[in-house]
Amino acid sequence: MFQPTPHNTASTRPLTIVIVGGVAGGASAAARARRLNEQARIILIEKDHDVSFANCGLPYYIGGEITDRNKLLVATPQKFREWFNIDVRTHQEVKSIDAGRKVVEIHERDTGKTYEESYDKLILSPGASPIVPPLEGVKSRNVFTLRNLADTDAIKACIDGDGAGTGAGGGGGEKAKKRNAVVIGAGFIGLEMVEMLHRRGMHISLVEMQPQVLPPLDREMARIVEGELEKHGVELHLGNGLKSLETAGELVTQVVLADETRLAADLVIMAIGVRPNVSLATAIGLELGKTGGIAVNEFMQTSAPDIYAVGDAVEYRHGVADMLMRVPLAGPANRAGRIAGEHAAVGQAPPMQAVLGTAIVRIFDKVAAVTGCNDRCNAMTGRKARSVWVPANDHASYYPGAKEMLVKLIYDPETNRVIGAQIVGGPGVDKRIDVIATTIRFGGTVEDLTSLDLAYAPPFSSAKDPVHMAGFVAENDLRELCAVTRPDAVEAMEPNVQVVDVRTASEWDAGHLDRATHIPLPELRQRMGELDPTRPVVTICRGGQRGYLAARILKQNSFADVSNMTGGMLLWNILEKSATATSRA
Ligand code: FAD
Repeated sequence: MFQPTPHNTASTRPLTIVIVGGVAGGASAAARARRLNEQARIILIEKDHDVSFANCGLPYYIGGEITDRNKLLVATPQKFREWFNIDVRTHQEVKSIDAGRKVVEIHERDTGKTYEESYDKLILSPGASPIVPPLEGVKSRNVFTLRNLADTDAIKACIDGDGAGTGAGGGGGEKAKKRNAVVIGAGFIGLEMVEMLHRRGMHISLVEMQPQVLPPLDREMARIVEGELEKHGVELHLGNGLKSLETAGELVTQVVLADETRLAADLVIMAIGVRPNVSLATAIGLELGKTGGIAVNEFMQTSAPDIYAVGDAVEYRHGVADMLMRVPLAGPANRAGRIAGEHAAVGQAPPMQAVLGTAIVRIFDKVAAVTGCNDRCNAMTGRKARSVWVPANDHASYYPGAKEMLVKLIYDPETNRVIGAQIVGGPGVDKRIDVIATTIRFGGTVEDLTSLDLAYAPPFSSAKDPVHMAGFVAENDLRELCAVTRPDAVEAMEPNVQVVDVRTASEWDAGHLDRATHIPLPELRQRMGELDPTRPVVTICRGGQRGYLAARILKQNSFADVSNMTGGMLLWNILEKSATATSRA
């Protein structure tokens, strides 16, 4: 392991590191640079009022779950000065870079003056800006994007000021009618805002151009999230775009969608994605990647090696897709900032590793999480992937309060490597997605997943954790002990395929596939003579476990071609609903 030594300039003057942007990536870079180079002059320039604030906490402050605004300020300029001896300059904007002279031009917002600051190393962490469609009315007083504390204060004032809320924190009183919020965009921030505005007592319409919420999830997994939103009275408008905004004076009153649906609006949140802030970089000809993010190497150096770039403004290598992508998430921004800060301060650093887009969001009582490649990503890269869907409890079912989650595990049948996962459930989704993300990061296979030594006691897990269970099912598939068939493939199978539902009579009566034969699992050994061992069989149960047992019984009784419907009727029902939703969209 190399020991970093502060590198210095050719002269005796200390190294000067200028950092543009003082939040996730910039603040990490500044602090790391100082920890490794006590002599350097480190200057952090931030155009807004605050540095190092918790962007990710903003929706929860609006919703009232975080009550103390000061808690959002992870580190103040004063702390940066006192702890790190970093020269923090807020309300100052870097307007341009002169890479030849190695100076930046800085505009002081308070005084209107402009001055120059020279650098030896420059780190750009200017983030991204919310995309705002060029529509009339978009600048109205009740239309918002959410990126920083100023946006947060404005949204909160709009809700509080008008006595909007009949829920927590709202000042509506008995006579206040329920007010309408329209959230455009059903990504992570859009969904967080839906939950928090609902918490404030508003009626929510959620508009999304894609035919599903949360595009990083595959359709069927997103459908579970949609069910949760519907359960809480959120009006979904999927596969429908924003067409126009109708105003009265300074306020939007109606949102009009592409299909002419009109939504009453007291408050509109635009959460349709972000655009990387690359104008400083492009002005001096720094190379951009195909995705529009700044191109960087593994030390976060741009095409001008003394200029680094990190965070939402850059593109990263995706560890599974092996493609460059923009991943506007806090984790990569913080890690990249740390690497850039170190490299700028001492000339070397451990390289930035590929990212997996691991992300998580809570939507009311559900949690949805994703890592690695989803179906669309696999289709894009031409990879032949297989998937299993495994329902499992977050902890031992006999211990009170167990909650089911659905794990979708995606793997490469040629290498057996785990290449992605999506989990929707309640408690414990977070740790399972992180275990799988860790496995993917180290190139782990399905077999690796089954052999992980994980902590267990009844309140926390089961001796066979949901991660193990997903691994077991995938391993059985790969070893051809029990191949899996996707529910959406079963209906379309040749008529000679025998579909055997092994659930109980009451489960069968509650709904079954038209073409299925009902043989409850306990009767299978006696009644297998009703089936033809020379014809293929697909077994079905609620979630896959009894179907697996049935498949093993048949396989060991001379049935050559047996597979189990992965995810069982649970997944089939979800897919049915998503098919209906898609045809509606
Ligand atoms: P930022 O943190 O946005 O910092 C960029 C800073 O640069 C800004 O303060 C800006 O004012 C300043 N700046 C820009 N140009 C200049 C200039 N020319 N001169 C001076 N200053 C400049 N990610 C997650 O992983 N999980 C979450 O739960 C999550 N929740 C989020 C919730 C919200 C509401 C938002 C907005 C983001 C969330 N993110 C989340 C994303 C995450 O916050 C970002 O990916 C991360 O902050 C990016 O870091 P950054 O340093 O690139 O940009």
